[in-house]
Amino acid sequence: MLTVFSDSHRLHHGTELKDGVLKPSFEQPSRADTVRDRVQHVGLGDIIVPRTFDRACYVNAHSERYVSFLETAWSEWTATGREHDALPLVWPVRDLSNEHVPSFIDGKLGFFAMDAGSPITATTWEAVKTSADIALTGLSLINEGHNSAFALCRPPGHHAAREYMGGYCYLNNAAIAAQHALTQGAKRVAVLDVDFHHGNGTQNIFYDRNDVMFASLHGDPSVSYPYYSGFSSECGAGAGDGYNLNYPLPKNTTWHSYQNALIHACKKLRNFSPELLVISLGVDTFKDDPISHFLLESQDFFGMGEIIATVGAPTLFVMEGGYMVDEIGINAVNVLHGYESKQF
Ligand SMILES: [Zn+2]
Repeated sequence: MLTVFSDSHRLHHGTELKDGVLKPSFEQPSRADTVRDRVQHVGLGDIIVPRTFDRACYVNAHSERYVSFLETAWSEWTATGREHDALPLVWPVRDLSNEHVPSFIDGKLGFFAMDAGSPITATTWEAVKTSADIALTGLSLINEGHNSAFALCRPPGHHAAREYMGGYCYLNNAAIAAQHALTQGAKRVAVLDVDFHHGNGTQNIFYDRNDVMFASLHGDPSVSYPYYSGFSSECGAGAGDGYNLNYPLPKNTTWHSYQNALIHACKKLRNFSPELLVISLGVDTFKDDPISHFLLESQDFFGMGEIIATVGAPTLFVMEGGYMVDEIGINAVNVLHGYESKQF
């Protein structure tokens, strides 16, 4: 399996508000480098650099005004004399107006964010854009005849919705690839999110659509980030009713119950007969992950890949979360090896 990777991810490393204190983000550059090292170490396949894509590819999954915000946020922030990471402080929740986009950058930051987990630095946009290009390059490989590809994206993307960033995410790499496949003529695309956290951004982008079936296995949102989405009652809306599948799982979920949910989700996706399967590949379901609370072991990720293969569609793996840096490479590559062992 080919891996798409770029050193540009190191252009992004910010801070986050954690436990009431501003700290270096858990979402750090060593994550992607560790996975890249593992890919090389086991000889998964060649590692290639991403191609560049037109910004119209990002706007298809996001809104024009949101992409414009990401492009200009840093220059607007520094124009006010500030030099540290740009973070939002006020949000248009409930009965506050969200009809008007503020013209001042502090208002824009809250308008286009769900939390303070996505800091913007001088070089964040370059890293974010390249991360989306990595996913789009992975899609190109599949279009060119590869049965699967690994888009080693960083920053991750699945918390980024049509019009907001959050949870370390800016552009939704998986959704951008899925949407681009549809734009190129695919009729049905499935997205399966196995990150510990609910893929709220991907759900948001495709919620009223029946050409994308989205399934997510994740920590019960009543106790796990992002708290306000990921419940099993969220099934889609309008034409998309029935095309959104959430599997919230309790704290301390082990492989035994996880695999039952995964098998169920993969059967549903297989019955949808997708022309492409996009996997939001987070490995923060690992037992020692510092910000999650499932109990999967490293060998379980091999089984995860085997089950994913049962969907029976060309598969684009898109890297999302996973914060146990010593193990993230082993666990991510185990999924890919498991998939390849069962490849149809
Ligand atoms: Zn996660």
